[in-house]
Amino acid sequence: MKQATERAVRPNSFDLKLARARCKKYRRRILDMSQHVSALHIGGAFSCTEIVDCIYNEFMRPGKPGGKSPDTFLMSKGHGCMIQYVILEDHGVLSKADLDAYCTPHGRLGTHPDYGNPGIEASTGALGHGLSMVVGMALAERGRGTNGIIYTVLSDGEVQEGSTWEAILMGSSLGLTNIVAFVDNNDFQSLGRTSETHPTFYPLAEKFRAFGWETAEIDGHDPQQIYDAVTDRSGSKPLMVVARTTKGKGVSYMENVPIWHYRSPNKEEYAKAIAELETQG
Ligand SMILES: [Mg+2]
Repeated sequence: MKQATERAVRPNSFDLKLARARCKKYRRRILDMSQHVSALHIGGAFSCTEIVDCIYNEFMRPGKPGGKSPDTFLMSKGHGCMIQYVILEDHGVLSKADLDAYCTPHGRLGTHPDYGNPGIEASTGALGHGLSMVVGMALAERGRGTNGIIYTVLSDGEVQEGSTWEAILMGSSLGLTNIVAFVDNNDFQSLGRTSETHPTFYPLAEKFRAFGWETAEIDGHDPQQIYDAVTDRSGSKPLMVVARTTKGKGVSYMENVPIWHYRSPNKEEYAKAIAELETQG
């Protein structure tokens, strides 16, 4: 991370206020969707809202008119896909009808991303496989000479999967500098604390460094820190950003409360959540 004095002279290409406004809008949209289904992964979507927002709205380069971005996003923590869906709707890739039919028999969007749906590059949610696909995608980009950047978000729980570490090893061994990965380090895996179930998991960033990755450690709800971690990278190694986050971020009664891993708020809870969001800057 560079120092604040250096940041001050960077061209004014990042609008923090705008990023916060987008995240508020996206959380509101997810809450609205929650009123049409009996359960959804709201806690894990809220913990990576700022990260996924920055990836889509700050980092991924626009494509040619009517075309795709040269860069790719893969939601390795597939259960957090609500935030991906609402951003894809915001970008006009998915429709309001698509989101209104979420998790219905006639809809095409399920609780995990399905390859073949607009904007979805891989089926994920069986945790531990996403980063391996990212390595393959990044290698393919290099082989084609297109060098698109592959962005991904992993959960902290899935970093315990052995297959994740095989991908970590290959990413650095192959010198895939076009990978930008985040760990949504909310210290929960389903209903338990990651730090309690696997206390030797931490410190996490030094393990990625030992495997040859460049790392950054940030507050994953601070869009400025997310932006800086990626734009300040050296580019000589694949990047892993370990982002401290809060499961259920943005709604006080959901934050760090395990039941919100997979639950929809009732009408009263929904009203309270919306009122809280309205008070946030
Ligand atoms: Mg987690």
